Amino acid sequence: MEKGECNSPKISWRGIIEEYREFLPVTDKTPIVTLKEGNTPLIKVLNLKEKLNLDLELYFKFDGANPTGSFKDRGMTLALSKAMEAGSKAVICASTGNTSASAAAYAAKGGIKAIVLIPEGKIALGKLAQALVHGAHVLQIKGNFDEALSIVKALVERYPITLVNSINPFRLEGQKSAAFEVCDQLGFVPKYHALPVGNAGNITAYWKGYKEYNSANRISSLPVMLGFQAAGAAPIVLGKPIEKPETVATAIRIGNPASWKGAVAARDESGGRIDAVTDGEILNAYKLIACIEGIFCEPASAASLAGVIKLYKENYFRTGDSVVCTLTGSGLKDPDTVFKVIKEPVKVEANIGKVERALEGIL
Ligand SMILES: *Cc1c(COP(=O)(O)O)cnc(C)c1O
Repeated sequence: MEKGECNSPKISWRGIIEEYREFLPVTDKTPIVTLKEGNTPLIKVLNLKEKLNLDLELYFKFDGANPTGSFKDRGMTLALSKAMEAGSKAVICASTGNTSASAAAYAAKGGIKAIVLIPEGKIALGKLAQALVHGAHVLQIKGNFDEALSIVKALVERYPITLVNSINPFRLEGQKSAAFEVCDQLGFVPKYHALPVGNAGNITAYWKGYKEYNSANRISSLPVMLGFQAAGAAPIVLGKPIEKPETVATAIRIGNPASWKGAVAARDESGGRIDAVTDGEILNAYKLIACIEGIFCEPASAASLAGVIKLYKENYFRTGDSVVCTLTGSGLKDPDTVFKVIKEPVKVEANIGKVERALEGIL
């Protein structure tokens, strides 16, 4: 190779809109706002299978590897592109975290304003930092998420601004790209697809994606959809809204999901299940995924694996079934949770003997 000559550039990923354009509601006139989201790793699970004696072919779809650290980017690229196409002056959302982080980043890229209403004191620090650093106008509302959302809904009636909560249909259109990727990366359709359920937009979007890929003859079967809510925030499982949802998994702390009907349809049409897992089960899965698979995901993300472990113990699966678990977001957003499951490091004097003693049985 000549000096100063690189390898010829690999064809690089163009973001979900360009990669899956034929499945998305865009035209030549749509300005594409992208941070090259999507193409996230699909990782075969090995250590955990052995440790738990899980006789499954298990994969993680790690959507925490998206540009802002959650799957929300898949929907936000389309929502922002369509808002720009419509000539919107700003986007606005009510959010407890990842939606605001993603909206702020894509609005920055698109060069329009982002306005974020957050319920006071109910947001992980990493997510708040993201919204702020990307230049969003952030207001803390002295009230809960539902109150913040109703104010947002009223504002979009009065001003030329676009709502980018998941009731914006372009969000789910973009999010369905994750189902396409799973099929393209695996080369087949998994028998089961498991994911956490909060507002239920993602399970609705995945199911739509699988069905569209099937209709387009890209695949020839459909997976069974498995959704998992936190036990303290399980309105779909209980069949009624929850007034005060509570769980360590803040991204799924939702009492009255916006896409409730979509989630129930995904469950029933695919012959799947929507079940609840306890905070203890979620944290156990969160720790396992990090300690023995090397992936740091959000607590909410771990609900997918927690649910699969629960159903496995109930003999729900058959030997060797293929199961994909979506890990929806990055653990770096909410490092505080680590200290709920792992002890703080011990303090040792700067002395080799003391260090050796502290590492007894490890060295
Ligand atoms: C938004 C979010 C969820 C919940 O997804 P829904 O579409 O609301 O069901 C789960 N995990 C993470 C990390 C999220 O950001």
